[in-house]
Amino acid sequence: MSSHQHHKLRHRALEVLVRLKRLYPDAACTLNYETPLQLLVATILSAQCTDERVNQVTPALFKRFPDAFSLATADLQELETLVRSTGFYRNKARHIKESSRMIAEKFGGEVPKRMEQLLELPGVARKTANVVMANAYGINMGVTVDTHVRRLSQRLGLTQHKDPVRIERDLMQVLPQPDWENWSIRLIYHGRGICTARNPACYNCKLSDLCPSAQIG
Ligand code: SF4
Repeated sequence: MSSHQHHKLRHRALEVLVRLKRLYPDAACTLNYETPLQLLVATILSAQCTDERVNQVTPALFKRFPDAFSLATADLQELETLVRSTGFYRNKARHIKESSRMIAEKFGGEVPKRMEQLLELPGVARKTANVVMANAYGINMGVTVDTHVRRLSQRLGLTQHKDPVRIERDLMQVLPQPDWENWSIRLIYHGRGICTARNPACYNCKLSDLCPSAQIG
């Protein structure tokens, strides 16, 4: 891409960002949690599952196992039962238990603040790590790319890629770092409400004049 094209892309991305902030001024992470560890657990549970459903499961889970130490020694079957309705519950329960054990043993019970340490935890990939770092610690290490962020970033012409890691790299190049996480949160709102997978409501979309995929009329 020429530097002129890159400049134009950056400019458009910034305009999208400004509008998203105006459209969703109070957008925040929709998972409920009180500690970084609880956010990590909720984020692991949110894979292939809605935040709403995760929020139905976590109150009982966190009451029974409030921290890394209790989760590290939890009975796996009991854990599975508690998280069952979020789907893929065997893997999720195992990842939660093993991550908690590593956090308890290696990091004194605190979720680590370094990306490479977070990525060592079982079941934690960049998406989960980004969510935790940004929301629990206010550190923007990357752009969270979930299914909504991926679809909308593609439709908005900000990436040509399909692979989340490459999409993330493209977005990191056009967005200011302090806005990386709020970009994802707001784009997810827009993806749920307007630019849905099957029926994007382009006629009702405040980004349509900036969007190469807009279908109006
Ligand atoms: S114009 Fe249509 S495709 Fe583009 S962001 Fe809006 S709803 Fe999505």
